[in-house]
Amino acid sequence: MKVENLYKSFGKLDVLKGISATIEKGEVVAIIGPSGSGKSTFLRCLNLLETPTQGRIWVGTDEITEPKVNITKVRQNIGMVFQHFHLFPHKTVLENLTYAPVKVKGLTKEEAETKGMDLLRQVGLSDKANEYPSRLSGGQKQRVAIARALAMSPEIMLFDEPTSALDPEMVKEVLNVMKGLAHTGMTMVIVTHEMGFAREVADRVIFMDDGVLVEEAPPSEFFTSPTSKRAKDFLEKVL
Ligand code: ADP
Ligand code: MG
Repeated sequence: MKVENLYKSFGKLDVLKGISATIEKGEVVAIIGPSGSGKSTFLRCLNLLETPTQGRIWVGTDEITEPKVNITKVRQNIGMVFQHFHLFPHKTVLENLTYAPVKVKGLTKEEAETKGMDLLRQVGLSDKANEYPSRLSGGQKQRVAIARALAMSPEIMLFDEPTSALDPEMVKEVLNVMKGLAHTGMTMVIVTHEMGFAREVADRVIFMDDGVLVEEAPPSEFFTSPTSKRAKDFLEKVL
């Protein structure tokens, strides 16, 4: 995925001010930065949940910011996991996983269920297939949300602070699922405050502040010797 000179404004508020980045296939990129710096907006632009004001985005050789692009199709190919799960409350766990693949991708119910059960195994929740989301813990809900995104067989997975709304004891189970996914070679872009996770799992850290990409480096470099003052100040506060 390639992003070139991305701008996003909401009315007079300029949130993204010319971001360029390349994310390689199979790469795990952690996006970190202060609150309000535009991390979520950036992620939402990547799957066209927000329409960029300016700039271009490619997935492979396909430009998704082309006016004629099929936005539904683009989103099918780019899974997203939010802070607050967004599960369908009136569907069971398995139904949450099978709904879109049947409705949008045209899988048969049986195909979708087989795949759904495989994914529930992958996130350690096979025994919850027939449960409703309200009966799950936050960590379990988030693992279902990850499995649901994977059920569409996306090429890229985006995560927006997937553990921020969780009780501390549930953070690890979700991070472990994400770590496992990273090891499968999935391309992942993760906005996170979990510095330990970013350090361990990410191939690269992108540091954003005030709508610009200030610095990018492998975690080993970024966390030990950030080059910009803004990154240094930020790390001093969070580490
Ligand atoms: P972060 O995820 O880094 O905390 P966000 O991308 O959520 O930052 O927000 C960056 C700025 O954009 C904030 O000032 C926020 O209030 C503003 N913003 C985000 N979404 C909208 C929107 N839909 N309409 C207006 N302003 C928005
Ligand atoms: Mg955010």
